[in-house]
Amino acid sequence: MHPIYTQILITLLGLIVGSFLNVVIHRLPRDESVVKPASRCPNCARSIRWYENIPLLSFAALRAKCPGCKTKISYRYPLVEALTGVLFFACFRGTIDIELFRNLFFIASGVAITFIDLDHRIIPDELSLGGWAIGLISAPWAADHSFTELLIASVVGFGVFLGFAMLYEKLTGRVGIGGGDIKYMGTLGAFLGLSGLWAAILVASVVGSVIGILYATLSKPAEGAQNEGVMKASLPFGPFLVLGGFSEIFFEVSQWLILKP
Ligand SMILES: [Zn+2]
Repeated sequence: MHPIYTQILITLLGLIVGSFLNVVIHRLPRDESVVKPASRCPNCARSIRWYENIPLLSFAALRAKCPGCKTKISYRYPLVEALTGVLFFACFRGTIDIELFRNLFFIASGVAITFIDLDHRIIPDELSLGGWAIGLISAPWAADHSFTELLIASVVGFGVFLGFAMLYEKLTGRVGIGGGDIKYMGTLGAFLGLSGLWAAILVASVVGSVIGILYATLSKPAEGAQNEGVMKASLPFGPFLVLGGFSEIFFEVSQWLILKP
């Protein structure tokens, strides 16, 4: 098959996976099954027919409204589908192998983590620890890293951040890095290796600081509500870690940073 057809198929796969990720993003933090029951309108519980569940097309055909109760369907749904499709498209480099599926899995779980962390300020264990496990199980087939390196990277990433978090909490009495972020370090290590892990953390910290400061400045709380406002204006770190991981997968940032031996 000509690579262009393969790329089209992978993009379509991305749209379908994106549609499933919408279910994951909605249900996983609520501890609901992601397979049963079939998708329903969150407002009127009308079950969604298969032909109303086609990525992007159904949203357009239904004019962003539930056919049952006419409630608006969030633009988040087609956005997640399109985003996953575009990322899958960009991920394909001409060969179908386990490395490709490792990367596609990493991307899909990253998209889910981003939106769940934005909505609920958590990274579910199914995604962090589950992703860590899948990263290690598939590690022997990784293209650029040995199994040993990926294992070491995941344990070091998790351990260093766990140590940091415990020290920070002991010194300040406040929780600095969330438990989900620490577990996700294991996932990042198992997919990116040591240099990739550090590159991802660097990108996450730099972009996270800049955006965090901008966000806190722009959403300045009213006089007197300063402390509470600062708490509310803080951003979750998970989406930045995902961004760091993606920048390593797509652009090999560790190469430019000369972090590779
Ligand atoms: Zn409805």
